Amino acid sequence: MMSSPETAAVRCCACHRLLFVAEPDAVAAAIRIKCPRCKAVNILRPHRAPAIERDQRPTDHRGKAPGE
Ligand SMILES: [Zn+2]
Repeated sequence: MMSSPETAAVRCCACHRLLFVAEPDAVAAAIRIKCPRCKAVNILRPHRAPAIERDQRPTDHRGKAPGE
């Protein structure tokens, strides 16, 4: 039996436009793809499930000491 392999639909992180569909192993290295619709840059990392990240920024929104 040949059932279609597991594919992951990769969508734009900003507008959710479908960018492409890939099998989990299709991504061997980090990919940066620019959304043709909203121009957001999506960064894809090789993982089981292609996780979409936006610009990596250390968001520390809880441990900021209120000092000057
Ligand atoms: Zn987009």
